[in-house]
Amino acid sequence: MPIEHVETLIIGGGQAGLTMSHRLKQRGLEHLVLERQRIAERWRSERWDGLRFQFPNWSVRLPDFPYPHSDPDGFATGREIVDFISAYADFIAAPIRCGVSVNALRFRDGGCGFIAETPDGSIEADNVVVATGPYQRPVLPAWLRDDAGVFQVHASRYQNPDQLPDGAVLIVGSGASGAQIAEELLRAGRRVYLSVGRHSRLPRRYRGRDLIWWLREMGLDQTPVEARDPARLLPVISGAYGGHTIDFRRFAADGITLLGRIQAAGNGIFDFADDLAETLRGGDVVYANFLDMVDAHIERHALDMPEEPAVRARLPDPPGVTEPRRRLDISADGIGAVIWATGYGIDFSWIDVPVLDPRGGPIHHHGVTGVPGLYFLGLQWLSKRSLSFLSGVGDDAAGIADYIAARG
Ligand SMILES: Cc1cc2nc3c(=O)[nH]c(=O)nc-3n(C[C@H](O)[C@H](O)[C@H](O)COP(=O)(O)OP(=O)(O)OC[C@H]3O[C@@H](n4cnc5c(N)ncnc54)[C@H](O)[C@@H]3O)c2cc1C
Repeated sequence: MPIEHVETLIIGGGQAGLTMSHRLKQRGLEHLVLERQRIAERWRSERWDGLRFQFPNWSVRLPDFPYPHSDPDGFATGREIVDFISAYADFIAAPIRCGVSVNALRFRDGGCGFIAETPDGSIEADNVVVATGPYQRPVLPAWLRDDAGVFQVHASRYQNPDQLPDGAVLIVGSGASGAQIAEELLRAGRRVYLSVGRHSRLPRRYRGRDLIWWLREMGLDQTPVEARDPARLLPVISGAYGGHTIDFRRFAADGITLLGRIQAAGNGIFDFADDLAETLRGGDVVYANFLDMVDAHIERHALDMPEEPAVRARLPDPPGVTEPRRRLDISADGIGAVIWATGYGIDFSWIDVPVLDPRGGPIHHHGVTGVPGLYFLGLQWLSKRSLSFLSGVGDDAAGIADYIAARG
């Protein structure tokens, strides 16, 4: 059977793969996008119903395609983001085949270039851009057991409160997903336990502007990967309910039971570390440092922005913080469900080309690997802080398109 040949194969039909397509088209370069399911699949099937985009509408755009909205300060629903990315695919007339998974990628026999294996046959490509996403597989604790006798779901498969059986809910993980799901369940009338880990908390708004405005104004979104602080976590922010600051002490005051980091689970018992007060203090430091940075920036540039001392106010530690519970018993505490908001990992095990480090991550510089013609796009901190986010991926894609154009 003749093997199909394309100049450049883009694997993945999310925002990154589509943006790559646009950048290649702008340079007149032939290419094909393969998407194993549907366009923007992760926004369709791996985000919960109530999730709001965490960037305000005014800031949302793909290259040459701003997000259409009537409320600049509003936050889009997941469905609206799917529609936006799908409309972008139409706008750029992306040459995309959906429902085609690349199951293996290897060198072409005896020459340069690559072979991508799909259920529909092999495709030869001179260049390959891997755009399969920064959040590819759920990370679950090793001691998780299916027979624990309680409904369990990773945040990527959580949909809404009605999906969960009756009873209290334990949420493990206090990043943006865990915090937002905890708030949603509390508002739905659930009893909520939240196991809080190390986190980076930032204000939604300060001195009259949204966080995203400040990140841009101070150039922080352009921080190059070389200046990345590896200890720094993604911020806990929310666009839900109009967008507001996540404050774990406020959660506790509203009725969520905060717990330390989970240490062990078995026989229907969960044990938690005695580190809650310290963890909250760590989040406070990041928060206060950010406010200080904004204040200094305003002063340095003599900007006319209203003061907002209330944003610095700290609620007192509720009793459960100074002496948190260390143990939960599934039956005695009436736990009906556990939600693992324990993050995401990558999976490039299908790539049989020597570009992966011992931990399975690609070795690259700004998405360009040491293997001529092989590129990665859309990973966190590919070249700058902002560039795995929807509105940032266009710059990395342009850089890679220039490399491909230069290869001839
Ligand atoms: C809970 C949550 C909330 C988020 N909120 C925001 C937010 O508010 N703002 C923001 O900017 N970002 C947000 N993000 C991050 C954002 O979702 C990702 O940055 C974005 O989806 C990345 O786009 P992408 O195109 O790089 O990857 P993805 O969206 O992951 O797209 C990759 C595509 O590749 C396909 N694919 C994978 N493997 C193969 C294969 N072998 N063959 C063919 N196709 C394949 C997948 O089906 C998928 O459609 C959030 C992430 C999470 C988890």
